[in-house]
Amino acid sequence: MIKVGVAGYGTIGQRLADGVALQKDMELVGVADITVTLAVRALKEKGMPYNLYLASLDNREQFEQAGIPISGTLEDLVQKVDIMLDATSAGIGAKNKELYKKYGKKAIFQGGEKNDVADVFFHGYANYEKGIGKQFLKLTSCNTTGLIRAVDCLDRIFGIDKVAITIIRRVADPGDYHRGLTNALQIDKAPSHQALDLMTIMPHIKATGILVHTPVTHGHIITVVAKPKKKITKQNALEAFNAHDRIRVVKIEDGFLGNASLFKYARDLGNPRGDMYEIAIWDESIVDSGDDIMFAINIPQEAVVIPETMDGIRAAMEMETDRLKAVAATNKYLGLGTWKQK
Ligand code: NAD
Repeated sequence: MIKVGVAGYGTIGQRLADGVALQKDMELVGVADITVTLAVRALKEKGMPYNLYLASLDNREQFEQAGIPISGTLEDLVQKVDIMLDATSAGIGAKNKELYKKYGKKAIFQGGEKNDVADVFFHGYANYEKGIGKQFLKLTSCNTTGLIRAVDCLDRIFGIDKVAITIIRRVADPGDYHRGLTNALQIDKAPSHQALDLMTIMPHIKATGILVHTPVTHGHIITVVAKPKKKITKQNALEAFNAHDRIRVVKIEDGFLGNASLFKYARDLGNPRGDMYEIAIWDESIVDSGDDIMFAINIPQEAVVIPETMDGIRAAMEMETDRLKAVAATNKYLGLGTWKQK
């Protein structure tokens, strides 16, 4: 069994770890990261299927506070493996290389590193033989990997003289807030149908609202200003939201910057299609305004109606006449609220 470690548990590192875990002739010893990212939080909530190692002891406290079990340092991991897959942020791999060299270990770097980090710039189909027995390989970038697959395929059969390419490049991965936001907004006539619908279901509450369409796909955000019959403090609101099994209270501070963070987190949890049944409310969005309370909700539009539809079946079929027993049954079968126990 070849023992493998992964440094950098981000977009590529997570998928590398999963890929290694599926290889029957390899053993994934562990993964390493430097900070408590959402991917690391998801790893913990999934029950730590992979051992996690710390790239820097400076951040140990951060991991302990988040209750994330640590199996050792990156240096410990390097000593336990035959080969490291380095998927750290571009440029970090070159620094980590010193560690790999220190212990005489092999390593494969990703596309963000400079070519001179490795002995061979490698592609499994196009120049496999060049990589045989080498200590350091560097993989081609995502675009190059796919491009070479196609060109090599034709080249080996027909021979190719020249290629001219146009790349239409995705601007960012889901959740890459640092790459900026995109394009135009469109406004609907007020009041929005959601406010009217709320009044139909809850006629004792007056509601109004404005809807703005935005060019994103990973969930809606609703801000709510509620005027209560008696004062609700932020603490009161938090306790109520936390006790609700279809509401997940999240923190900006933990990396939940917006709708795409939640979509990415659902995918990192391994939820089918990146679905989330629960709505999320940002702790830091809950705020008093005079007698009113204001907060922001994330709506994962593709999955949010499923639980309530299940409740509908229970109601329509008279499977349960007690509301709380009915929703509790739905929640139990859909695993809602389980994140609170992890
Ligand atoms: P990412 O930012 O999603 O992940 C990088 C991870 O490395 C983060 O979790 C970060 O916390 C961690 N990290 C940073 N410094 C570290 C250190 N010193 N030790 C351990 N971990 C550390 O980045 P990514 O998109 O996964 O990119 C990783 C590499 O893969 C880059 O070289 C990139 O160019 C390449 N790549 C990315 C894509 C893509 O589509 N995202 C595709 C192909 C190749």
